Amino acid sequence: MPFSLTAVKIGVATRPARPRRISILGATGSIGESTLDLIGRDPPAYRVVALTGGQNVARLAELAILHRAELAVIADPSRYADLHTALAGTGIEAGAGHEALLDAASRPADWVMAAIVGAAGLKPTLQAVRQGTSTALANKECLVSAGAIFMAEVARANTILLPVDSEHSAAMQIMAGAPKERIERICLTASGGPFRGWSREQMAEARPEQALNHPNWSMGPKVTIDSATLMNKGLELLEAHHLFSLAPSQLDVITHPQSIVHCLVYLSDGAVLAQMSCPDMRTPIAYSLAWPERMHVPTKRLDLAEIGALTFEAPDMERFPALRVAKEVLAAGGSAGTVLNAANEVAVEAFLAKRIGFLAIAALVETALEKSDDLAKLSPQNVDDVLAIDSETRLRATALLGRFA
Ligand code: NAD
Ligand code: MG
Repeated sequence: MPFSLTAVKIGVATRPARPRRISILGATGSIGESTLDLIGRDPPAYRVVALTGGQNVARLAELAILHRAELAVIADPSRYADLHTALAGTGIEAGAGHEALLDAASRPADWVMAAIVGAAGLKPTLQAVRQGTSTALANKECLVSAGAIFMAEVARANTILLPVDSEHSAAMQIMAGAPKERIERICLTASGGPFRGWSREQMAEARPEQALNHPNWSMGPKVTIDSATLMNKGLELLEAHHLFSLAPSQLDVITHPQSIVHCLVYLSDGAVLAQMSCPDMRTPIAYSLAWPERMHVPTKRLDLAEIGALTFEAPDMERFPALRVAKEVLAAGGSAGTVLNAANEVAVEAFLAKRIGFLAIAALVETALEKSDDLAKLSPQNVDDVLAIDSETRLRATALLGRFA
C-alpha cells in the first residue's frame, strides 16, 4: 500500500513544552539558509542538532556557531581539519565525510530538512527517514532517482514526509481539504525560466550566467539550470507521482510566468483549487516546519491588484525537450528515473563548467537514456542497487560529453 500524504496522522496543535530538535542537511545552500532564517527568528523554539554542508567550511562554521548547533559536518572529508579549527573552543562537534553525514542524519531530532542537492542526498535523507524523524523534503532528486524505494522506507518507518518544493507543498495544502478519491488530476505550474521567450538558435548560445538568472526565484545553481531547461518541471512530475501516488495521466504542467499560483488541483465535481503566494521559498519551508500548525513568515504579501494579471500557457516541449523526455520517463517507470536524474546531473555540471552548450543538456540526457535501456529495465531492491545504476549512468553520460562539446 503506497504511502499517501493525505493519510498522515494529524498531530495535536499545541506549542511544544521543549524546543523542537531540528537538523538541516545542506544547511549552507539556498534552502538551508532560508530554513535557518526562519529558525533564527524564534531561537527559544528550536534546538539545532546537526548542520551539514558540502564544501563551504567557513559558512558552515559560521552558521553552526550562530545557531549553536551540536554538530557540524562537511561532506568533503579533506576539509575536516579546517572545520575542526574553525569550531575550536565553541564546543560544537565537527565531522567530515560520508559516514559523518549519516551520523548527522541519525542524531535524534524531531524534524529534519533534507536540502542536499542531487542523488548525493539520497542516503543521508533515507537515514533520517529510517529514524522516524519528520522529514521536510526539498531534495526532489531522491524521489526522481529512487521514488519507489524511498516511499517504501517512509511507509515502513511510519515517518511523516513534508514536501518543500513549492508546487508539492501547494498540492499538499490543497489536498488536505479534498478527499483523495475525488482528485482527478493535479497541474504543476512552471515559470518558464529565463529563456521562456527565446528561440532555439538563441538558446544554443546561452551562457551559464544567463541561465542562472532566474526571473522569479533565487535558488541554488543546479535547480536554477533545471528551471531554465524545464527539466525541473519534469523532475517535479516524477516527484509528485511518488509523493501522492498519482498516475502519470493525472499529472500535468502549465506555464505561469508570474509564479504566483503554484499548483492546481482538479476535483471530480469540476472545482479547481489553487494555492497562491509570492515566490519566496520561506513560505513552503514554513509550512513544513510548522505543520500541522501555521507560523508567521515575514514575506512580501500578495497584492493581486498590483500584479494585475496572472497568465497561463501550454509549455513548449519543442523548444524545451527536457520536459518531453521527463514525461516519457514518467510513463516508462522502472529505473528510467534513476538514469534521467544521473544523466541530468552530469549534463548540468558540464554546462556550468562550460564543457557543453545549453541545448546539449537535454540532448545528452536523451541520448544517455537511449543508451541505457538495459539500466532502465532493472528492478533495484534497495538503495545500493539504485546508486549502482546511478554510477553506471554517470560513467556513460560522462563518456558522451565529448560528442556534445
Ligand atoms: P544549493 O546548491 O544552494 O545547496 C545544496 C546544499 O547541499 C549545500 O549545502 C551544499 O553544500 C550541499 N551539497 C552539495 N553537494 C553535496 C554533496 N555531494 N554531499 C553533501 N552535501 C552536498 O541547492 P538548493 O537550491 O538549496 O537546493 C537544494 C535541494 O532543494 C535541491 O534538490 C533542489 O532541487 C531543491 N529545491 C530547491 C529550491 C530552491 O528554491 N532553492 C526549490 C525547490 C526545490
Ligand atoms: Mg518547484
